Amino acid sequence: RAKADGRGAYCFFEAEMDARLQARRALELDLRAAFEAKAFELYYQPIYDIAAERICGFEALLRWTHPERGPVSPAEFVPLAEEIGLIVPLGEWVLRAACREAAGWPDDLKVAVNVSAAQFTSSGLIATVRDALAESHLPARRLELEITESVLLVNGNATVAILHGLRGLGSRIAMDDFGTGYSSLSYLRSFPFDKMKIDRCFIRDLTVEQGSGFIVRAVISLASSLGMTTTAEGVETPEQLRRLREEGCNEVQGYLFSPPVPASELPALLKAWNDGGRRAA
Ligand code: C2E
Ligand code: MG
Ligand code: MG
Ligand code: MG
Repeated sequence: RAKADGRGAYCFFEAEMDARLQARRALELDLRAAFEAKAFELYYQPIYDIAAERICGFEALLRWTHPERGPVSPAEFVPLAEEIGLIVPLGEWVLRAACREAAGWPDDLKVAVNVSAAQFTSSGLIATVRDALAESHLPARRLELEITESVLLVNGNATVAILHGLRGLGSRIAMDDFGTGYSSLSYLRSFPFDKMKIDRCFIRDLTVEQGSGFIVRAVISLASSLGMTTTAEGVETPEQLRRLREEGCNEVQGYLFSPPVPASELPALLKAWNDGGRRAA
């Protein structure tokens, strides 16, 4: 009897696995089709400079609306695109589109682009960035590349060489989601990032839990000792902004200012924040 139950459970598990695999395969095909059909879009989220009291740039974020499922989160489709190798051409499209868009903005605004670890294992990343800058005429100093700690896990030495190459083009390199990766802090000695983005999870509890406050303070202190600036992710309340200003954080990003929006909405956002004199706190 026990045996029969076990076997039943196994069959159920197998069916479940099968359904999931099929759903994944379907999404994989849809993702490839979407790329061929140029169905991806970039949204932009403002980055606010606390001291200057103005928007200093935008982060480009991928959006995909599935024909039947509706909007699919990049947290779901980016990892899949990485697994099937689609992230390399897709990431190239993101770089080109973001640089082209940013070239039309006022000259004091930068654009931040997420680059996945899988793009670092393809040899052409430096050339891709160089081409995107050249064809858009965007000055390299206005491009910031965001990478996560996982990039340094794959192949430390080769990655550091590529990072130096990217920096050599004149663009800046930010460490994204700081505090959520698995790597040790030792990589901070092997490559001097320009910026640390403090992960949303620490900001969320900043004003409600003492521990998060201590961590945020320590990260800002560590970053500034190493010559890096800091950006806080996921700032949703005026209290969080006030605390971050007190702690000496340089930039903030989050729903308090704006969610990511289509490029067509950027002029109105800039008018409201930078020209209209609207202040956050
Ligand atoms: P990320 O680079 O850390 O981007 C920040 C994420 O936080 C975005 O989610 C943004 O919409 C969200 N966010 C911003 N402010 C707030 C807030 O106040 N509250 C909350 N709850 N969330 C906020 P999104 O757009 O869903 O992107 C998720 C992740 O997908 C990104 O995290 C990034 O790792 C990846 N991703 C997005 N676009 C690209 C891309 O073009 N290339 C690559 N390689 N990855 C991308
Ligand atoms: Mg990012
Ligand atoms: Mg992040
Ligand atoms: Mg993230």
